Amino acid sequence: MNRDNPLIWVEISQSALTHNFQIFRALVGSGVELAPMVKANAYGHGLRACSRIFRAAGAEYLAVNSIFEAEKIRATGDAGRIYIAGYTPLAELKNAVELDAEFVVFNFETLEKLAELDLPAQIHLKVETGTNRQGLQKQDIPRFLEKIKILPKVELVGVAMHFADIEDTTSHDFARQQLAEFKAIRQLIEAAGFPHLKFHAANSAATLLWDSTHFQICRTGIANYGMWPSEETFISLAENRQNKIVLRPVLTWKTRIAQIKTIQPGDSVGYGRAFVASKEMRIAILPIGYFDGFARDYAEKGSVLIAGQRAKILGRVCMNILMVDVSAIPAAKLEDEVVLLGKSGEEEITAEEIGAWGGTINYEVTTRIRENILRKVVD
Ligand SMILES: *Cc1c(COP(=O)(O)O)cnc(C)c1O
Repeated sequence: MNRDNPLIWVEISQSALTHNFQIFRALVGSGVELAPMVKANAYGHGLRACSRIFRAAGAEYLAVNSIFEAEKIRATGDAGRIYIAGYTPLAELKNAVELDAEFVVFNFETLEKLAELDLPAQIHLKVETGTNRQGLQKQDIPRFLEKIKILPKVELVGVAMHFADIEDTTSHDFARQQLAEFKAIRQLIEAAGFPHLKFHAANSAATLLWDSTHFQICRTGIANYGMWPSEETFISLAENRQNKIVLRPVLTWKTRIAQIKTIQPGDSVGYGRAFVASKEMRIAILPIGYFDGFARDYAEKGSVLIAGQRAKILGRVCMNILMVDVSAIPAAKLEDEVVLLGKSGEEEITAEEIGAWGGTINYEVTTRIRENILRKVVD
């Protein structure tokens, strides 16, 4: 691949990522640790580049989903703390300890395997508070703690929970209930002889909305990347906090025009002849498709930006190719830059807008961007 002149690439703004991270720092202060989530290739923004930027900005932890992501971070020479938030399979526990990664545990089988391996593991206990995703149920917590006490090499470092319904709503009764449950569990655990654990519950929405969710660590994800967890979070925040928080989008996704041609009335474009021209049109062929993460669902409502103007998608998105209407952009020529997501001149296409085209959320839009597309840090 020609790194200086790629056909498809993603530009990452270091200053925007740092700005967003500093918003969280200002909210939580220096007494709370930040664990920016770099799972899913840093929400599509590039694991390596974003990890480096977060560390430079003072991230105490980097949080990942899997041990494979932890390995990638260690391979860059990063020796800081890593938290694995997803399930670490029994066969990978030794590997996790050797990587010096802290990981979350919510099964007795994991403790038994750690006992068998006799390795010095640092673990966090994930507790169930109503999300019914990962998490040990409350009635099993005392027995879990007793097991840990008889494992001298296993250190319980923290206790985690995850909110089910904090970003999808402006009424936070269920989140409050989960928080109350987590606080009750905290008392139970501290009373059982673990007075100095790090408790953590907050994702982006919780960190932004309520100081009472911050505890000792905040696992902030999407808002680091300049995207709001949801419209509801944006609205709730406006009600909760006086100071206006301005997030800066971090990612711009670009490609180049691969061909330009003129078609005649009655000519169709692409598979299924899904678009038929009713007049003479100038169309541009773009070398990007659903394989790259530009989903077929975007076609009907979607457009791209060329020289600061919108060019509508024509017909279906192919595996590697997309056709757009440049009739109104006469200056468009071969290999001109095309913005798929981000700003071009005065125009902007956000991840939220693309999500709306495809019936999905901003989280999915950026994480869909194929991992091996070049990520360039631009400022
Ligand atoms: C992804 C994730 C987060 C971050 O969520 P955002 O909404 O992106 O801030 C936090 N905690 C856990 C367990 C997660 O899986």
